[in-house]
Amino acid sequence: EQDVNEYRKSLAIRVSGFDVPKPIKTFEDCGFSTQIMGAIKKQGYEKPTSIQCQAFPIVLSGRDIIGIAKTGSGKTAAFVLPMIVHIMDQPELQKEEGPIGVICAPTRELAHQIFLEAKKFAKPYGIRVSAVYGGMSKLDQFKELKAGCEIVVATPGRLIDMLKMKALTMTRATYLVLDEADRMFDLGFEPQVRSIVGQIRPDRQTLLFSATMPRKVEKLAREILTDPIRVTVGEVG
Ligand code: ADP
Ligand code: MG
Repeated sequence: EQDVNEYRKSLAIRVSGFDVPKPIKTFEDCGFSTQIMGAIKKQGYEKPTSIQCQAFPIVLSGRDIIGIAKTGSGKTAAFVLPMIVHIMDQPELQKEEGPIGVICAPTRELAHQIFLEAKKFAKPYGIRVSAVYGGMSKLDQFKELKAGCEIVVATPGRLIDMLKMKALTMTRATYLVLDEADRMFDLGFEPQVRSIVGQIRPDRQTLLFSATMPRKVEKLAREILTDPIRVTVGEVG
């Protein structure tokens, strides 16, 4: 009985916001290109996870999103796949410099995991992905960013360092992801996150993912997202 209740809670989905697009049921419903479908097959993903079913149509339609779901629910692909579509949809941007997609994550390990996932889907398009986090040579990262990329995955502190060194410009950035926002705040990155957001044009698309929504994260979300749709999967504290 207890287990059944726990299981039900873990499946509960709540969506709020206005003009919410209908969730999709299959990857085919998203209209992904054959390249992306190929990469999905290669990953062995058969059907989208709960958060993906809700998030894909929301993000693909250009809306901001707050995604709240526990670890392991497939949040990375939920923002990486629409990001590839977003980048390919903006050929006029290809002429400029600097990343189009900017992803902030709390730790090196997470940034690296996201980097690997993004690369799998970006590769067929020649979209360049750079990872920027502590523990690697700043000079090497500076050089890599100078060479150019369409996607940057970064920890907030190191991205600020790179921005100060003018290794990259944010003029082309139109797709911002804050992943594990609660952990970034726990680690004291709120000032860095705010500084990064402040350097990205306000007409960007913003995605915020978090396992929990403490008051500070809620406040940031209210300040930096535009008419977001909130998707909560499972009971979240
Ligand atoms: P989260 O960020 O929510 O913690 P991840 O994005 O890291 O979750 O995904 C957790 C695991 O699930 C990863 O191993 C990922 O490859 C896998 N995964 C993601 N989407 C799917 C899917 N649609 N079908 C099967 N596995 C998936
Ligand atoms: Mg994650």
